Amino acid sequence: MNKLPLSRNPTIRTPTTLSESIALEPIREETTFRQENALVLFSSGQDSTTCLAWALTTFGSVETVGFYYGQRHDVELKCRDPLLSTLRNLNPEWSKRLGDDHVFDISVLAQLGDTGLTQDVEIKMEKNGLPNTFVPGRNLAFLVFSAALAYRRGIRHIIAGVCETDFSGYPDCRDNTIKAMQLALNLGMESNFVLHTPLMWLTKHETWKLSEQLGGKSLVNLVIEQTHTCYIGNRTEKHPWGYGCGTCPACDIRAKGFDAYINTA
Ligand code: ZN
Repeated sequence: MNKLPLSRNPTIRTPTTLSESIALEPIREETTFRQENALVLFSSGQDSTTCLAWALTTFGSVETVGFYYGQRHDVELKCRDPLLSTLRNLNPEWSKRLGDDHVFDISVLAQLGDTGLTQDVEIKMEKNGLPNTFVPGRNLAFLVFSAALAYRRGIRHIIAGVCETDFSGYPDCRDNTIKAMQLALNLGMESNFVLHTPLMWLTKHETWKLSEQLGGKSLVNLVIEQTHTCYIGNRTEKHPWGYGCGTCPACDIRAKGFDAYINTA
């Protein structure tokens, strides 16, 4: 079996400088992995939806996995099915490639302690510089369970929408964490998983741009209308960039990225 480089996405070159990262090349239909299948960590947020679209342009078949981890609202889970259905309608090829969706309950994470994502508390910064929305071990657990599922399903490629450019400082979103996890998962499961992180070096502005490159304005509209990012689960206030409270850190990053995307389009 061919060995692939660690955590490197072959279709989206990893930029090393800011100016390089802004000059993203247009997406071309990628055929390298057309015979292979993939599993996307899909939360129905903007980032994972963009990653799912990327996977659908890259792999022959794509499954999705999501988690209930005791989050304070179930908006993400409610968005899930309609969003997948719209995505299928967007492109007949994507519809053929999009396979099973899996949702697992790992709500034991919420029992381990209070966080701004699992309890109805004010979102604020902690003394360690991280927002209280950080759920320790959450993304690591997602990757472990995703890899266990991928193992059972005979899937080698795992895609996660983590990013360390416009992010809240979560240490489990960093490139080094993902590389270390890939190594640990491959050693621990005697496997050859490849963890792809197409958004790792993109700003939120560039993530909006990537969704347009992958699926045109239709995909951008889907991201606006149907994805959910807001930490407190607000689906009643509508903004040009989508639904949300407009003030939590997740809304803030999404809104600023959308402004930059619109103003440079
Ligand atoms: Zn919000």
